[in-house]
Amino acid sequence: MLSDVYALYGAVGAGSIVAGELMLPVNKKSKMRKRTRRSHLALRPVALMACPQCGRAKLSHLACGNCGYVNAHTTIKVGGEES
Ligand SMILES: [Zn+2]
Repeated sequence: MLSDVYALYGAVGAGSIVAGELMLPVNKKSKMRKRTRRSHLALRPVALMACPQCGRAKLSHLACGNCGYVNAHTTIKVGGEES
C-alpha cells in the first residue's frame, strides 16, 4: 500500500520522489514538439555510383563488389579470383 510506503519513509514533501512510484515526464511533449524533434530522424537513400570499370552500381569511396576496382592504381581481389 502507498500509505505504508509513506509511513516507512516518513513525511514526503510536494514534488519529491517516493519509492515504488513510477518515474514520469513532468510535462507532456506536444505533437509539434515531438514531430519537430523527429524531423531529423528520417532515413536518406543510399548514394550509389556506377563503377567506372564494370558499370555495376557501387558505394562511393569503397571497392566495387563485382570487380574489386578501387581507383586507377588499386584493384582488390573479389571472391578469390584475380581481376
Ligand atoms: Zn566494378
